[in-house]
Amino acid sequence: MIKFLPLGGADDIGASCFYLNIAGTGILLDCGIHPRKKGLDSLPKFELLKDLPLDFAFISHAHQDHIGSLPFLIQHIPHVIIFSTSQTKEIAELTLHNAANILVNSQSEESGLRIYTHDEIDLLVRSIRTVEYEEVFPLKGLRHISSLPINITFYDAGHILGAAAILIEHNEQKILYTGDINLSDQTIMTGADLSKVKKVDTLILESTYAGTDSAKLGTWQSEQKRFTKDANQILRNGGSILIPVFALGKTQELLASIYLLMKKGMLTETNIYTGGIGKEISSLYDRNRYLVRRKNIELELRDIPQNNLFEIEDYNYFKKNPGIVLASSGMMLEGTTSYRLLDYWLRQESFGIFGVGYMDSETPGYKIMNSKRGDVVQLTEFNPPQKINCHVERFYFPSHSKREELLTIIERTKPTRVVLIHGEHQSQNWLGYNILHKFNQVKLYSAEVGNQINFDID
Ligand SMILES: [Zn+2]
Ligand SMILES: [Zn+2]
Repeated sequence: MIKFLPLGGADDIGASCFYLNIAGTGILLDCGIHPRKKGLDSLPKFELLKDLPLDFAFISHAHQDHIGSLPFLIQHIPHVIIFSTSQTKEIAELTLHNAANILVNSQSEESGLRIYTHDEIDLLVRSIRTVEYEEVFPLKGLRHISSLPINITFYDAGHILGAAAILIEHNEQKILYTGDINLSDQTIMTGADLSKVKKVDTLILESTYAGTDSAKLGTWQSEQKRFTKDANQILRNGGSILIPVFALGKTQELLASIYLLMKKGMLTETNIYTGGIGKEISSLYDRNRYLVRRKNIELELRDIPQNNLFEIEDYNYFKKNPGIVLASSGMMLEGTTSYRLLDYWLRQESFGIFGVGYMDSETPGYKIMNSKRGDVVQLTEFNPPQKINCHVERFYFPSHSKREELLTIIERTKPTRVVLIHGEHQSQNWLGYNILHKFNQVKLYSAEVGNQINFDID
């Protein structure tokens, strides 16, 4: 008896959280928070867990949309045993504390959330049990009714440091949860390694970029070429470039790319501005570089000359000392550093804003990236419309698999059942159509919050 119940992150990219009941053992795959939404709306639908047994939570990686609501889950169900890779645990320690500070500032009392304390996070992080990639470990929940345990294995998913795809096996049934997965190399991370995963019965597959034409997405090499050309032009004219980035993953990859491009003499040597949590995460990338598969193993991010973005109060500084600014958040959410810089940047003709990663369609970042110089944009409901005077360019530097690579995962793992998650409707539509077209034996589902699917063999 295997039941699957999505609690969040099913048909969008937000509070990823999926419940599995295997022979009476309750498992959560991820426990994320929606980066754009506020209050209870930002959490997975934990109320659906009422009366269901819950024993374990497996965290695929430390992005907020996969781990951010763990402290809220623990408030209600403190006995849950959490598993992640050691890298995810290390990153979580930084990011959950950071998220607590942001929550205190941004949530009103009516939001319905009981904000957790730093002490609570310390306890939570300490309680996380760590697992090695490709190490099989058996588990049984408190109400497990089968004599056979559930075997769990984490595989390297490429996406960011510590990211894992998770294989769950019970009584000859195999379920593979991809988490966020990238089959291609980036500048630091190597592509996912699923070479030891054989045929599975059920594949729970992310679909972030399935709706995006791969030609538009490009490769890291082609994006670097385009980036270099545009950046050189702006730097030559004395302008500065703002790159909104996720503090975790994109900051480190872009920092490494920019540095290596400068060292090769392709990109104009200039100041690099970083700071805050992104810089702290970079030191975890450095510390773990001999522990995980990665490219450019000798490269230490801390050796790259960087100026502290947080020391600059007067933004005219960027006119006198031009450079490339890596600032979170990646989607330029209100209240974040990249959003604060935006107002100044939009007024400067010689400056540029380069988008580099995924952006939710209702965020300021998305609105900017879908505009050009001369357009007037209204970034948030309460802000007056603003004219874009600077140069705007969209790059991708993908950290998720391309649409064709998602089909490769199906080819390799030969599932009889595929459940699509973590993607907007157009992504799931493209992927769904192509799966049915190419693999006509596959039983296909689009995950929907609250909609239970039985994974039993017919
Ligand atoms: Zn992610
Ligand atoms: Zn995600």
